[in-house]
Amino acid sequence: MKVLVVDDSKVIRMLVEECISSLGHEVIHAENGEQALIYVKESTVDLVLMDVEMPGMNGFQTTSAIRAINEDDWFPVIFLTTRQDDESFTSGILAGGDAYLEKPINPLRLQLTITAMERIYNMRQKLKKAEEGMLKANKELEYLALYDQLTGLANRRNFDETLDSQFKLAKRNKVPLSVIICDIDFFKIYNDTYGHQKGDDCLAVVAKVIGGVSERPTDKACRYGGEEFTLVLPDTNLQGGLLIAEKLRQAVFGANIKHEGSKVAPCVTLSVGLSTYTGQVQEADELLKAADDALYRAKENGRNRVESA
Ligand code: GH3
Ligand code: MG
Ligand code: MG
Ligand code: MG
Repeated sequence: MKVLVVDDSKVIRMLVEECISSLGHEVIHAENGEQALIYVKESTVDLVLMDVEMPGMNGFQTTSAIRAINEDDWFPVIFLTTRQDDESFTSGILAGGDAYLEKPINPLRLQLTITAMERIYNMRQKLKKAEEGMLKANKELEYLALYDQLTGLANRRNFDETLDSQFKLAKRNKVPLSVIICDIDFFKIYNDTYGHQKGDDCLAVVAKVIGGVSERPTDKACRYGGEEFTLVLPDTNLQGGLLIAEKLRQAVFGANIKHEGSKVAPCVTLSVGLSTYTGQVQEADELLKAADDALYRAKENGRNRVESA
């Protein structure tokens, strides 16, 4: 452990060091409370041995200040003092101390008290690690729940929630909301021609292009499922929605991903359906249905094109 020895007497600090470095601990010296505080602020410490009577801040004050800096953290603080009355003992514990040893130093008791504290400290470190692991796992789970693995775009659930909340906002604030749903043309043939793995690669590239089309941070691109993608465009009217829809179609076309089996172009293309809320429907589902109907018409009318509701 890294042990900070706080004592205004150099002789005592040397004595303590001699006594505990044999246990394999690294010892750092501070000759007053102020120095100790600076050290604790700027570095990590595993245990503190604290004198009480020092010029400037005394040991109780220094300990309170150390605890205040490290509110979410804990390491043992052991007092080493000539003050043996109950009142001092109480002050030490209430200031945040964990053990109270008397001077002159009894090497055996000092060593064993450190050993006992080390047990608790190690247990706490283990718990902290486990907690960090759990937090990380939770973050990953959260990500898995909301993002699509293959493309990194928001997934269907994320889209449903986003559309729902944005629809409510649009309704309440009386602002438009556009939703785009698009579908890769002849993608079954793409898979049949190049294989499923190349199909997956293609989806990832198309998703990247789709994700890069809109510039507003509130817009959200999602993988709706299979080879279908959606875009939620808050506060966007029909004209703005058409602009993005066309940009989307052109961007995927411009990516020029070879698709020999396509019946509309030599490369991968998108059919795009757009619907804009301006107060005409009551539910988000109806808005999405209208976009889906527009997409159907885009397919019917020759693919690689945009239709709006
Ligand atoms: P259309 O122009 O009418 O949309 O024709 P299409 O072939 O794209 O439409 P269809 O719905 O018949 O086929 C969609 C294909 O998308 C079927 C499936 O093989 C493929 N697909 C869906 N999800 C994935 C996926 O995650 N990976 C790969 N590689 N292919 C997928
Ligand atoms: Mg002293
Ligand atoms: Mg489809
Ligand atoms: Mg398709």
